Amino acid sequence: MLLYLHDCFEQHDTGSHPECPARIRNVNQQLRAAGWTERCECPDWLPAGLDDIESVHDATYVNQLERWCQEAAGRIEADTVVSPGSWQATLMACGAAVDAVRQISAGTHNKAFCAVRPPGHHARPQHAMGFCLFNTVAVAAQAALTQGLDRVLILDWDIHHGNGTQDTFYDHGQVGFFSIHRSPFYPGTGAADETGTGRGLGWISNAPISADTNPRTFRDAFTRGAEDLATKVQPQLILLSAGFDAHQADPVGSLSLQEEDFGQLTQIVCQLADQYCDGKIVSLLEGGYHLDHLPQSVLAHVNELAD
Ligand SMILES: [Zn+2]
Repeated sequence: MLLYLHDCFEQHDTGSHPECPARIRNVNQQLRAAGWTERCECPDWLPAGLDDIESVHDATYVNQLERWCQEAAGRIEADTVVSPGSWQATLMACGAAVDAVRQISAGTHNKAFCAVRPPGHHARPQHAMGFCLFNTVAVAAQAALTQGLDRVLILDWDIHHGNGTQDTFYDHGQVGFFSIHRSPFYPGTGAADETGTGRGLGWISNAPISADTNPRTFRDAFTRGAEDLATKVQPQLILLSAGFDAHQADPVGSLSLQEEDFGQLTQIVCQLADQYCDGKIVSLLEGGYHLDHLPQSVLAHVNELAD
């Protein structure tokens, strides 16, 4: 398995924000302590190029974000903060995803986990949103198509709806997107009747669930939604927006999940990947804000992913 981790993600300084450098510091410590940096290949990689970023985002927004970071603009949107280190961090997050897609497309490995921040799935083509600057998983999907793949499936189990990812591929028809998320909840999108349009009709699938959903119901709904869309898409690669903020103790999200539930969800994704695409999965860290339960949940995920 490929494991992407880097100290540069601690340079995205967000002050007292819950999406803070300690998240990634603790995740990296946990993965190192568990021996995964020894057992996985940990590649060096380059920041994403602007061609990769602009496959998803408008050049005007990309330029504006670079300026905001240089100017240490602070809060650029209701929930989103940037500092000078944010530009390199978000380019390196997207660069990790692109490198993982290329390596897995080339067949050297079939699994990758990218321990990156900021998260990406709320970022829209023209806007930062909800702690997210560039949409890392969307950039990864576009990179996969550039590599010659025809059909990619994105699964998103973060407790929040991946609205930016959905917006990017709503009428696309080569990238399927399934999200399970708490509803009603931020960002307010992801109703069951949001299913895509035009060539993308039927390629978008949403499973909104209530705040009192138990882990078994969550798992069953995730399995059903992911299996149904995989049948439709017949993916050649699965990308995973792996957020861990549905953990019971999470200060931002909080549903009912425990560490071991993320292991079980990972098994479901691995089974689908085995069935459709030679086990190929690129998993990207999204949310998860409890500084102890996040690294433990990531470890449960990586333990199954690398199994
Ligand atoms: Zn989230």
